[in-house]
Amino acid sequence: MPRPDPQQRSLLFDPAPARSAIRQSCRLAGETIEYTLNRSARRRSITLTIDESGLRVGAPMRAPQTRIDSVLAGHAEWIVRKLTEWASRRPAPFNWSAGDRLMLLGNALTLRFDAAAGVIEQGEGVLILPATLSAPAAAATAGHHWLRATAQAWFTQRVAHFAPALRVRLPVIRLSNARTRWGTCHPQGRVHLNWRLIHMPPALIDYVVVHELAHLHEPNHSSRFWRRVAAVLPDHLQRRRILRIEAHRYLLP
Ligand SMILES: [Zn+2]
Repeated sequence: MPRPDPQQRSLLFDPAPARSAIRQSCRLAGETIEYTLNRSARRRSITLTIDESGLRVGAPMRAPQTRIDSVLAGHAEWIVRKLTEWASRRPAPFNWSAGDRLMLLGNALTLRFDAAAGVIEQGEGVLILPATLSAPAAAATAGHHWLRATAQAWFTQRVAHFAPALRVRLPVIRLSNARTRWGTCHPQGRVHLNWRLIHMPPALIDYVVVHELAHLHEPNHSSRFWRRVAAVLPDHLQRRRILRIEAHRYLLP
């Protein structure tokens, strides 16, 4: 029977002494509010920011959650009002209907249904689906299948591109479906990559690919591990930061 692998490493849970970003939720004025909590060693006070991507809370690295909760409670009315204002400006939610937009490799594609299309095809700024898929449930099933196939092909090519530079044998690539974990490496030579990465710009996908391939050498986040990553992607810190903070902008709701 397969046992859980204690060597498994996940990208999300990197030890990050200088900063971290996690999704949290709280109850304010009778509503459940989701927010991103950005902790940073450089921050001295708790800050609240609300924009089209929702509520972000900035906090010192070691600020206790009770202090954060009390700042949130003290601004409950303002937070709920601002979130409502932003929500009214937000485009309609994505439900696989004509005119809906999704991100692919960091570019926005508008969904279109075409009676002449036999398969799902990507065009200039559009994703064309056969008209037979115009019921949202059918479009969602076929659309997810297409996104996963596109992800598998893209990841395979990027892994093959970076494997020689990292001096690793080509691993088996599997798609994962986690909400918050981008990649996992198994020392036996298997890399799991989240299919949702296919929504993101290639530079961010490359960072996750290189990170997981480097784990085939170093199962930890030691300085040796980061040197291997930096040798291939000198700007990996910046990519990692963008992935942590911006990823949600690319994902489907
Ligand atoms: Zn890692």
